[in-house]
Amino acid sequence: MRRIVRAEAVCLRVQDYHESSKLVTFFTLEHGKVSCLAKGARRLKSKFGAALDLFAQSRIIYYSHETRTLFTLSDAELVRSFSSLALLPERFLAAEQMAEFVLRVIQPQDPSPQLYQLLLNYLSTLESFPPLPSANRQSPIVNLQYPAALVCSFLLKAASFLGFRPELRRCLICRRPIENQRPAYFDPGRGGIICPRCAGDKPSGARLDSASLDMLCFLLYTPASEIAQVCSAIPQPAIGINRQERQDAKEKGEMAKCEQGRQGRQGSGPDNLQSAICNLQSPLDLVLGFLGHHFDPLVLNSFRWHAGLERNP
Ligand SMILES: [Zn+2]
Repeated sequence: MRRIVRAEAVCLRVQDYHESSKLVTFFTLEHGKVSCLAKGARRLKSKFGAALDLFAQSRIIYYSHETRTLFTLSDAELVRSFSSLALLPERFLAAEQMAEFVLRVIQPQDPSPQLYQLLLNYLSTLESFPPLPSANRQSPIVNLQYPAALVCSFLLKAASFLGFRPELRRCLICRRPIENQRPAYFDPGRGGIICPRCAGDKPSGARLDSASLDMLCFLLYTPASEIAQVCSAIPQPAIGINRQERQDAKEKGEMAKCEQGRQGRQGSGPDNLQSAICNLQSPLDLVLGFLGHHFDPLVLNSFRWHAGLERNP
């Protein structure tokens, strides 16, 4: 039976369909993944306008049918466009990676309001991310590190909402706080940290130094806006920054949010956290390894070429 449905949605994928239409995959707040045929959407004077652009948030109306998986889009009203994400390739890439992950883990008729809000929050933070000064834009490696911190954080939180929150504070085996027991080991299969005592002589997980563990905790437990603030205050590795400038930045309170995010951890200063974010490739690998154990390998497809991009700028 055909029925009319209203939903709030983020547009995750758009494909051309025949001469005048589009196939659109939405992440809806109320019904999870919804695929719609938008007839006439490729025409210049389409009634859908920018509401079907990638990452756009819209209020949509569609006709659903219990025996079908592709529905007919009737109307779409733009709420927020996120169109400026396309102006900077590294931001667009980060948004695409988050959208791709969501696209592969959500299901039809399975709403996930927390994940929906998380995605909107991270798209919004990404859009307001301060662009780097032009002098720093020479190396793609430098540019990629900032949105990569947000992507990493998004993946950790999204996995948590889907029931796979990595244990980063207590040893998975003895349950003792990991606080002073370093180095810890990250076991992606078990989904968390193992202390040096339990790891024994032949630890199975990846060795995590203090700064990397602090950074993973920071990315998992800190709001996106605060991560963006910390990242925007990181000195540029390509250009360098002297100790006095770092001290000045600290005194201006730019690192205050970072301290809160670390929740009173001992043993590594903000300098270590900054350098860990600057060397994000290895924590990103850890997170991807963790996700690879708990989700379909297809989930990680969009990250392979990203990693290639980082290695071959
Ligand atoms: Zn232990």
